[in-house]
Amino acid sequence: MGSSAAVVWDPAMLAYDLGGDHPFNPIRLELTMRLATALGVLDGVEQLKPEPAAEAEIERIHDVGYVTAVREAPMASWDVGHGLGTADNPVFARMHEASSLVVGASLLAAERIASGAATRAINIAGGLHHAMRDHAAGFCVYNDCAVAISWLLDHGVERVAYVDVDVHHGDGVQAAFYDDPRVLTISLHQNPMTLWPGTGSPMELGGRDAQGTAVNLALPPLTRDAAWLRAFHAVVPSLLGAFRPDVLVTQCGVDTHTEDPLAELSLSVDGHRATYQALRALAEEHAGGRWLALGGGGYQLLRVVPRSWTHLLATVLDRDVAPETALPAEWTSTVRELAPNARLPLSMSDGEPAGFEPWGGGRAEPVDNAIMDTRNAVFPLHGLDPEDPRD
Ligand SMILES: [Zn+2]
Repeated sequence: MGSSAAVVWDPAMLAYDLGGDHPFNPIRLELTMRLATALGVLDGVEQLKPEPAAEAEIERIHDVGYVTAVREAPMASWDVGHGLGTADNPVFARMHEASSLVVGASLLAAERIASGAATRAINIAGGLHHAMRDHAAGFCVYNDCAVAISWLLDHGVERVAYVDVDVHHGDGVQAAFYDDPRVLTISLHQNPMTLWPGTGSPMELGGRDAQGTAVNLALPPLTRDAAWLRAFHAVVPSLLGAFRPDVLVTQCGVDTHTEDPLAELSLSVDGHRATYQALRALAEEHAGGRWLALGGGGYQLLRVVPRSWTHLLATVLDRDVAPETALPAEWTSTVRELAPNARLPLSMSDGEPAGFEPWGGGRAEPVDNAIMDTRNAVFPLHGLDPEDPRD
């Protein structure tokens, strides 16, 4: 089908800045937009400017008391609680305003899809999937993913599938819709026994009236592209086919990369690119082409995030960038001004092969244990056979 894509971006979103040496540095977004621009990915593409989300929209997902604490925290001389003022979630100036703008950007992207103005939309500043109803967590103040999904459900969308490929469990989004059968959340992440936040076991399946609508695939540390993609394809397409969402929402964190300082999976930008292309194909096949793509984690600020999310932008816009494409001198010189000693990649590839061997049933490879754990737990709840690779 034909598609039109909306890119939501405003440099004002760089104000979501946790400060100092905090890993969640907004330079990653700025360098992504500069790289995408330098490669021509954004040529002729209108960048839609968001408005801050109204508090009523934020309160779809968050308690009033928490929103009040976020608003008052920068002025408060006391501990406001709610996970704020911690090492992970430091208080920063205009925190409520900056966080509301990120939510507003994801809402604008959702609105474009719900109205039919676009079939795809992207907000790379979004994807703050750890924020909980009454507290900040994991660098996330407001859960823009969950607010956007909730909004879609109130504006003509009956079923939403959320696929989260960040290295960490998409716990905040899972929690927001754990009892809601209209939302299928699927999170692929590093095994929670080995990584914060420690949740995301395959046995977390959804509440009593929503059994099977939470799906968790826990991958062992050091999992590489081919094994990750084998697991993705062994679990995600069948569930989307069974669930039949109206919209696919994806959190596209890139902290799965082997160079990411916060986690231990071993993907490459080539694996990321293959993932985005798979998500696009799944949106076409199972969600009428409707795809809301959000950013997420990713802490290798210079070498990884800009390249991976440029591939994401390109995929959303159907302007796929060939892996061997050289990095433009205009972009590398900008990075050199910021970090004169950084060892920069030369191209849009890490030189990894994009292929993988599909899962064929059983436990032939180490990653197949993770695949079987998830399929055994959840496939029967969707009328699918966990043992049959055709399902
Ligand atoms: Zn993450």
